[in-house]
Amino acid sequence: MIKMKNLVVGSGFSGATIARKIAEELNQKVVVIDAKPHVGGNSYDYFDSNNICIHKYGTHIFHTNSKLVWNFLAKFTKWYTYQHKVKGLLDGQYVPIPFNLNSLYQIFPACIANNLEKCLIEKFGFNKKVPILELRKTKDEDLTFLAEYIYQKIFLEYTLKQWGMKPEEIDASVSERVPIYISRDDRYFQDRYQGIPLEGYTKLISNMLDHPNIGVELSTSFSKDMEYEKLFYTGSIDEFFEYKFGQLPYRSIKLDFLEFSYDKFQEAAVINYPCNYDFTRIGEYKWFLNSQANKTVVSYEYPEQFELGKNERYYPIIKDENRILYNKYLELTKDIPNIHFLGRLGDYKYYDMDKAIERALILFENM
Ligand SMILES: Cc1cc2nc3c(=O)[nH]c(=O)nc-3n(C[C@H](O)[C@H](O)[C@H](O)COP(=O)(O)OP(=O)(O)OC[C@H]3O[C@@H](n4cnc5c(N)ncnc54)[C@H](O)[C@@H]3O)c2cc1C
Repeated sequence: MIKMKNLVVGSGFSGATIARKIAEELNQKVVVIDAKPHVGGNSYDYFDSNNICIHKYGTHIFHTNSKLVWNFLAKFTKWYTYQHKVKGLLDGQYVPIPFNLNSLYQIFPACIANNLEKCLIEKFGFNKKVPILELRKTKDEDLTFLAEYIYQKIFLEYTLKQWGMKPEEIDASVSERVPIYISRDDRYFQDRYQGIPLEGYTKLISNMLDHPNIGVELSTSFSKDMEYEKLFYTGSIDEFFEYKFGQLPYRSIKLDFLEFSYDKFQEAAVINYPCNYDFTRIGEYKWFLNSQANKTVVSYEYPEQFELGKNERYYPIIKDENRILYNKYLELTKDIPNIHFLGRLGDYKYYDMDKAIERALILFENM
């Protein structure tokens, strides 16, 4: 077997970024393999027969404050300047999520909302984001009432469905991802750069991999027999070490896709169902690139535990005991300097796409 100069395992954003940097800036050959029959990892999408761009592994919206990442991607895609909005079904109404001042006025009578708005601004300030667990610590009677309402109606059941745990049992970094926003800004993200690749994520990643120094082999799983000088592994770190210390836990999602023969299914690209049903949210794909098709496609998300061989690893479950387990695997990597672990699975971190790219860019700079 010929020894490869650089082997990259995984063709998601992490693998594609490191492969491109090595190929372009070091002018070295890179082989990228992926167990899946397509490139793109979890960000993979495709255009269906109605020309609607479907995100096979659930809705993906690109957002970042990193100029470095945004400029890096500019070579590989043009962007549809999409600003993401999410609503949640709350007491029979679809209100903006994250819960903000508009949600407050939609749910409560004006005199109550007005008082709560004043209390929130006095305590935390305008345009501030407050994690629910912090809001719950307040001693103010009115704010305690609001905190309990939001906790019960938005966070508790949603978190139980999504993570199989209560909000206080998951890592603060996870529950803080959707804070209460003391603002009238209905957008889900406030990042400087937001958008959807005009020709989809798969095309973007294919463009990243389109370089004379890069070879891509799909439907190819990593095997210990492969020979390489350097390995960049974006698969799950526990799998690489053959589960020596046990499996790292992940959450998975079962996605049910449905097509309807009418224009729009719902009033926002994503609608959360915190208290109703077993699914957490419904995503409607034509919103992302403003598709004008006569039909529409939605996906219902049913979170479930990851089980080896049964479903996909989606989200690392960030909590102390899992971090300890991950650190044991990380310790093993110190003896193998020619192997780098990165990405959502390699680092066992809840990366958004921009953070996965940034991590790969930084790894390259430090190599
Ligand atoms: C439901 C969901 C929604 C999300 N929404 C957003 C969003 O809106 N915005 C955002 O910024 N981020 C979002 N993300 C996060 C985003 O998907 C990740 O940041 C991104 O996929 C990370 O890329 P990666 O390359 O690290 O991992 P992945 O995309 O998972 O790629 C890893 C690749 O490695 C391959 N692989 C693994 N093991 C092996 C092996 N042994 N041999 C060969 N190949 C292997 C896999 O097949 C896979 O293709 C979402 C994630 C999920 C799960």
